[in-house]
Amino acid sequence: MNMSLKNKTALITGSTSGIGLGIAIELAKQGANIVLNGFGDAAIIEAARSEIAKLGAKVAYHGADMSKPPEIEQLIAFAVKEFGMVDILVNNAGIQHVSSVENFPVEKWDAIIAINLSSAFHTTRLAMPGMRAKNWGRIINVVSAHGLVASKDKSAYVAAKHGLVGFTKSVALETATTGITVNAICPGWVLTPLVQKQIDDRAKREGISVDQASKDLLGEKQPSLQFTTPQQLGELAVFLCQDAAANVRGQAWAVDGGWTAQ
Ligand code: NAD
Repeated sequence: MNMSLKNKTALITGSTSGIGLGIAIELAKQGANIVLNGFGDAAIIEAARSEIAKLGAKVAYHGADMSKPPEIEQLIAFAVKEFGMVDILVNNAGIQHVSSVENFPVEKWDAIIAINLSSAFHTTRLAMPGMRAKNWGRIINVVSAHGLVASKDKSAYVAAKHGLVGFTKSVALETATTGITVNAICPGWVLTPLVQKQIDDRAKREGISVDQASKDLLGEKQPSLQFTTPQQLGELAVFLCQDAAANVRGQAWAVDGGWTAQ
């Protein structure tokens, strides 16, 4: 096995499920120590933690709520205490809510901006001094096709994700002469619990089968008619951590089956 990230530590926010978990597994396969974060059933999280540890890396878990800056400070302090520093920061935690703007619950707007956008500011500002001291770092922001184009009824999500692309570019410029790179990955549809809920809601709303709702969802936006997988996104994250990607800076890299090519 190629252990290109041995002796590096990767912190992946929202990695108890879906894309974040997929990225954690691929980084662990390269030998990186892993800090998992996210919500969920304690036994299931522990099972994921010990499964990833079998790949040979050390794996720790911290349950910080990414909408709460004091808990984000505790998360970064925990990673530094466990492993010395955060070399690779993957800002992945995110939630969705679908509603017209006039009916959008104010608390949902605030939560989406806090978790999908502001949390990346807090982790980045807290991890940056360690990366600067070592003159090496990788910051990967998991954005979305919705960081590049919009859909209706997703105003908070689209605003947060467009904001995260801008944040990515700005911090990439701040670090452009250093060994720290900052980039965004912009997936199209990935079949995770976040998207399964949208498929289930659609099936219920339109009185169609879940299978048909899934096909319709893909057909509407994603020309490949295939879901992107968490593993594919994890392998792209691995590439962005390699020397080959050392001068890839401030990019929003779409993995969307052609969604944003239209
Ligand atoms: P998911 O629901 O499977 O996973 C979300 C993760 O974030 C979970 O681990 C959850 O526990 C965690 N989380 C949620 N709120 C949190 C909080 N307050 N504090 C800490 N952790 C929290 O969803 P996913 O599809 O894997 O999404 C991961 C990221 O990918 C999100 O930023 C999402 O916007 C983005 N994304 C997903 C898709 C897709 O099609 N699934 C497409 C583009 C972008």
